[in-house]
Amino acid sequence: MCPAQTLIRGGLVLVENDHFEQVTLLVQDGSIADIFQGDGPDDLPVMDASGKIVIPGLVNGHTHSHGALGRGGVPQDATLEQFLAGAPALNGTRMTEDLRLSAQLSAAEMIRKGCTSCFDLSVELPGPSVAGLHAVADAYYGAGMRAVVAPMIADRTIYQALPGLLAALPDEMRQVLGAITLPPWSQTLAVCEDAFASWPVPFDRVRPGIGPAIPLHCSDAFLSACAALSERRDMPLQTHLAETRMQQVAAQQRYGTTLTAHLGALGILSHRFSGAHGVWLDPAEALLLANAGAGIVHNPLSNLRLGSGIAPVRALVDAGVGLGVGTDAANTSDTQNMFEAMRLTATLSRANAPPTKSWVTAPEAFYMATEGSAKILGFERVGRIARGWAADLLFLDRAYCHYVPLRDVLSQIVFSENGGALREVMIAGRVVFAENKVLTLDEAALQCAAQDAAHRLDAANHDTRLFTDAAGLLVRSFCHASCTAHPLPIH
Ligand SMILES: [Zn+2]
Repeated sequence: MCPAQTLIRGGLVLVENDHFEQVTLLVQDGSIADIFQGDGPDDLPVMDASGKIVIPGLVNGHTHSHGALGRGGVPQDATLEQFLAGAPALNGTRMTEDLRLSAQLSAAEMIRKGCTSCFDLSVELPGPSVAGLHAVADAYYGAGMRAVVAPMIADRTIYQALPGLLAALPDEMRQVLGAITLPPWSQTLAVCEDAFASWPVPFDRVRPGIGPAIPLHCSDAFLSACAALSERRDMPLQTHLAETRMQQVAAQQRYGTTLTAHLGALGILSHRFSGAHGVWLDPAEALLLANAGAGIVHNPLSNLRLGSGIAPVRALVDAGVGLGVGTDAANTSDTQNMFEAMRLTATLSRANAPPTKSWVTAPEAFYMATEGSAKILGFERVGRIARGWAADLLFLDRAYCHYVPLRDVLSQIVFSENGGALREVMIAGRVVFAENKVLTLDEAALQCAAQDAAHRLDAANHDTRLFTDAAGLLVRSFCHASCTAHPLPIH
């Protein structure tokens, strides 16, 4: 149910992402139509928020819905490149309904943890399909979330992407892995164009984006075509940028320069561009990104899990780069908890005892996890509580231990909240989570379907997994040796 007008009374509200105040919100047609001191009009339906802290919904700047069905399937000691080598076993043989199910699982987790919008780089092997992309978009729309759904696409395998990798493999493995190819990029982009032209749900809720997976995994012509499509349709483009040291080492070998300098020379950087991770960026790259109006999405937990490093968030902010925060997928993070990602954004900036002026403050981390990410998604008026902005709201229980006693509310949210105090979630004026239930999805049915799908997919991918597990270890060793042999002048 979503009445046309609702008053939200009695809450301690974070107004304009600036200060907390006891005010009444008028929600109308999915937006915050007005903010009243006192109780506001007395002839409208009322949602009682007394005893609650009301903040804007968190915005996940980077995730992968397909990861939800791969939960638990990534070795605990995997590096990114090892994980990528295992992708065929994790994501192979999936049908359209598996993509829908995975996106529903992903949405349910994010809603439960206070996320109201996300940027989803969604993969389908061997390449995207109209039905698959539409199933993911439908899943988010049905769950009531806002989302950018961007097909994650490539025209090179990891074996073609990393110079010297194939040559370093044993003969038999080289023959098998070297023979794998991805569909030509023109065919892939034609499918994306078809999917975008017949988009099944309203753009103000779930809109398409484009996701060339990793620059090294895409030919230059493909990257340029993705950027042209992004410009033509005014849609966001996101790629994994300098996530690992290996990617920068390979960029020097392939391009003779940094990843960002190469993308800049190709004309890919713009205000529509965002790079996920941005761990291994040097100061010149930060300036290139800032001058283009491009953004970076910080994924602290995933970077720790995969041992990728710690992104230079303060240096990026100081250079003028727009920052968002993301969780990455449910199988590399291994939780899509934006509260945790936000807390790590603040705390990880203090690792290794830097000067306090370089720490990410609680208000900065909160901004990045709300408005900062929303800008990267390309959603306007999302991520703060103000007149005319989206009614995407979280209701936290101020009697919960995190807020007892209550002194510095925003600081207590950033440094202690993990979703434990979350009682209701509203997206576009509609309550989608209450009484510990996601109201828009049948979570019990999802659980059964997910376990069935996992059994079926694991059996179907069993032989592939044996092979890719072995290949993954060799890829990891190759990357370690390459990075040791080619030190970078950063970090
Ligand atoms: Zn990612």
